[in-house]
Amino acid sequence: MDNTILYIVIPCYNEQEVLHATAKMLSDKMTALVQSGKTSPDSKIMFVNDGSKDSSWQIIKDLHNQNNIFTGISLSRNRGHQNALLAGLMTAKQYADAVISMDADMQDDIEVIDKFIEAYLNGNDVVYGVRSSRQSDTFFKRNTALAFYRLMNWLGAETIYNHADYRLMSKRALQGLEEFKEVNLFLRGLVPMVGYTSTTVEYERKERFAGESKYPLKKMLAFAIDGITSLSIKPITLITKLGLIIFLLSLVALVWVLVVKFTGHAQTGWSSILVSIWMLGGLQLLAIGVIGEYIGKIYKETKQRPRYIIAENLEEATN
Ligand code: UDP
Ligand code: MG
Repeated sequence: MDNTILYIVIPCYNEQEVLHATAKMLSDKMTALVQSGKTSPDSKIMFVNDGSKDSSWQIIKDLHNQNNIFTGISLSRNRGHQNALLAGLMTAKQYADAVISMDADMQDDIEVIDKFIEAYLNGNDVVYGVRSSRQSDTFFKRNTALAFYRLMNWLGAETIYNHADYRLMSKRALQGLEEFKEVNLFLRGLVPMVGYTSTTVEYERKERFAGESKYPLKKMLAFAIDGITSLSIKPITLITKLGLIIFLLSLVALVWVLVVKFTGHAQTGWSSILVSIWMLGGLQLLAIGVIGEYIGKIYKETKQRPRYIIAENLEEATN
């Protein structure tokens, strides 16, 4: 069997502080892999410029000019981590046998790439990088992330625990992923749906070595809601159940009200009316809101807008 052509795909949004160091670490790794005969000399490191406002794209182009091991694509504008990653995966799939995705900040330990490839050669189409601990995260991030996984699981959305987007996928797994046309992208929920044999590899996640997180709380929450509403309709079911329970309770209340009335002890009823108005009003708004979330998703999906537009592909410029 010929050597595996490996592509490493890295979405980058305003990553000028880390790009040089990241490129160095990855090219050293790649060179070692090629020398040990684990991967083909045609393997490459592909950066995806996700509409950066800093000099990231210029750096990527310079890297490519200096060394052919680096390549890159540039999106027409900022589309967010998931879309940028998908753009990179779909582009890399044309040239590679296997593709590894990782972040630009080297938080994911690149030493486990050997294990990824080993697992791939042993017949796994998907290899998930799984964090063995979350010590490097802030207390807040660690606990919100844990709460999020628990919630996802409870809601019935299948995700791999403590796995972010550090994973290897074979060409055919990527071809499978290509068949998922959804606009509301939550890749770590979709990849398990693609199927094929998979395994996990544990690693320690480090701190971002430079620059700052591109996932502030607001984006993290939006991502969590996207994940849940894209993978599960349980929230709607829950609301239906809640509505049913409240309706049954109101029947009991009705009987109680009638009993009180006909036994002649009717109160002015101010507090109970006020409480029910607030409670029902709140519940109804909540229910409408949840249903609205799903309708919003349907609205977005029906338009079938492109998930990304590639403005430049360095691979095509050279080949
Ligand atoms: N990223 C991106 N587009 C965005 C936001 C982030 O391509 O709109 C990239 C970013 O450059 C990084 C990866 O997604 O390579 C993960 O972002 P980050 O490390 O900031 O997230 P965190 O590790 O803090 O969750
Ligand atoms: Mg990071």
